[in-house]
Amino acid sequence: MAKTERELTVPERRSIRKLVTGSCANYDRDYGCLPLDCECPMLGICYTNSAMCRYFWEAVLPNDPELEAALQALPTKRCQHCGKPFPVNGRRVYCSDKCADDARKKQTAARVRKYRSKAAV
Ligand SMILES: [Zn+2]
Repeated sequence: MAKTERELTVPERRSIRKLVTGSCANYDRDYGCLPLDCECPMLGICYTNSAMCRYFWEAVLPNDPELEAALQALPTKRCQHCGKPFPVNGRRVYCSDKCADDARKKQTAARVRKYRSKAAV
């Protein structure tokens, strides 16, 4: 699944910094990222999908489930039938097959009603 790009909030960047300096096994206070031999790229990121450190996403980020959920959250839209937010999925306008079904039934019922009232005139 493609990660969505959005600007990181200040608290999120602060949390990332805390995670890197506190939990990343590759981070050294004096040398930065030890395998890369430079400053940790995750400390400078501004967008959710920039400077992807695989180690950070796989091993460090899960230490903060709340931040992980926030960074991986997909854009949502509201279901046209029940109004519940759901992850954007192509051009879907309903959160579930059930809602799509219900909405279709409702539309069909409305069409039938319209047809009947016309026929009665
Ligand atoms: Zn729905």
